[in-house]
Amino acid sequence: MSTTIKNEKLFCTNCGGEFTLKFPLQIPEMNSKIKLFADLHKDCEQTYVEPVADQSKDIETKALWWIANGHVGLSSKTMWLFFLHQDNPLINHPHDPDDFSRCYKLLEAVPEWKGRILELSKLSLPWKNLAENWEKLTAMYEQNKKEDWKNSEKIGMYEFMQTLTR
Ligand SMILES: [Zn+2]
Repeated sequence: MSTTIKNEKLFCTNCGGEFTLKFPLQIPEMNSKIKLFADLHKDCEQTYVEPVADQSKDIETKALWWIANGHVGLSSKTMWLFFLHQDNPLINHPHDPDDFSRCYKLLEAVPEWKGRILELSKLSLPWKNLAENWEKLTAMYEQNKKEDWKNSEKIGMYEFMQTLTR
C-alpha cells in the first residue's frame, strides 16, 4: 500500500506523487478519489526519497523546514508548537507507532529538541508517560523499522503506547 495522506494531500510513497484534496469533501467522494489515486499509483517505481533537513542550519530554520516539508501530524505539531513557541492551542499526543514516527522524524530534523523531550511532561499525563519512555519508544521504533515491521507484534510498541496513554 503506497497511498497515504500527508498534510491533507493524497501522497504516493513510491514516486512522491500527490493530489490535493479540497475540503470539505463528502466521504464517498473522498473514497473514490483515494481509489482513483491508488489505482493510478499501484505500479509506480520506488523513486521517492524522503527529504532531510540541512543540519548546518540553525534550530529555527530546521523547524520551519520541517513544517513545510515534513509529514505533519497532530502530535508532532503539538511538539513543534511547544518547542518553538512555548505555545499549545492543541494538545495531542502520539497514539500509535505511526503518530510516533512523525514525532521521531521531527526530532531527526531538529535533533537539538531531543534533549527537551521531558519538558513535554507538563502538557498532559499521556505526554508525561510518553516523554519518560521516549528512549524505549525510540528503540522500539528503530527495531521495527530495521525489521520492516515484520515483528511488530512481538516488539509490542503499539500495546506499550496504549498502556502509556490510557
Ligand atoms: Zn506513485
